[in-house]
Amino acid sequence: MKTRSMHLLLILLGTFVCPVAGAAEPAAWGAMEVAGNSVEPGTKGRFPVISERGFEASYLNMPVYVARGAKAGPTLCVTAAIHGDETNSVEIARRVFAETDATKLSGTLYMLPFVNADGFRNRKREMTDGRDLNRTFPGSANGSVASLVANFVFTDLTSRCTALVDLHTGSNLRSNYPQIRVDLENEAARELAVHFGVSMILGGGGPDGSLRGEILKAGIPAIIYEAGGPLLFQEEEVARGTEGVRNVMHYLGMAEIPGYEPPHPKIYEKTRWVRVPRGHGGFFFPELTMGAIVKEGTRMGYVVDPVTDEVHVLTSQYDGQIIGMTLPQPVLSGYPLFHLGVE
Ligand SMILES: [Zn+2]
Repeated sequence: MKTRSMHLLLILLGTFVCPVAGAAEPAAWGAMEVAGNSVEPGTKGRFPVISERGFEASYLNMPVYVARGAKAGPTLCVTAAIHGDETNSVEIARRVFAETDATKLSGTLYMLPFVNADGFRNRKREMTDGRDLNRTFPGSANGSVASLVANFVFTDLTSRCTALVDLHTGSNLRSNYPQIRVDLENEAARELAVHFGVSMILGGGGPDGSLRGEILKAGIPAIIYEAGGPLLFQEEEVARGTEGVRNVMHYLGMAEIPGYEPPHPKIYEKTRWVRVPRGHGGFFFPELTMGAIVKEGTRMGYVVDPVTDEVHVLTSQYDGQIIGMTLPQPVLSGYPLFHLGVE
């Protein structure tokens, strides 16, 4: 219990005076201004982030969901669909928000549930200008469409959030075992990761220009939840993600989950890919399922050449666990097939 309070304090310092620590009085708690709207304590609202009209507005606009708690507390920010084809993430955000009772909430739940709104409507990972938004943060006020959106989101979130949960799924016809990705060297972020409550954590700082990486550099603890594949609602992954965000709200002292026990997840600090060997492109058929444990030499699936009918059996070069995989499809030399967590 003592450790939990200390970690909470780490997270809450700087943005909010933690009641657990029993230090100074929290600042007066009142309405919150969001996109020209005032959200009163104990109420919720959903708004467009920009009110202008015009040709470009539809490419830049996105909704914001805000639940302003009746009582003072931290601000948990949740982002989804930074990659527009990552459909599970949007439903997780919607479900958490719909089921949050602002009259019983301490603090603020602040959500950008369709960050790449145009991509989401068009079922595309990239932004309208073809860029990967999650390699564009912190963005620029005078850049491309992706850069403008990144700049708005980054500026908005860094001015508000105590902590960030960014929701993703596998992209490009890949699927991921439910996992949290986190920079294990950041203690506050690591605690968020553990308290999300899924059984697997992957360590790593994330690519340059990712929201998680850049916002962590700005001093806000951030994690990613990755689960399932693109373009579908997968009930198991949505339910697990919804529960995870609620667990984080419980950990931050925003909402109570009776009987909640923090889990003991498996932590992988390294990952490796099993790829299509050179010259063995064709039709890929996996034979193992997500989460399977493999040893060096374990048979994992095969690629059949549709011109020669030659079958190339795929074996693992590593001892590890399947944390992500490509769905059955045509593949070429070097294409990543199985993502392994390795000891
Ligand atoms: Zn993603």
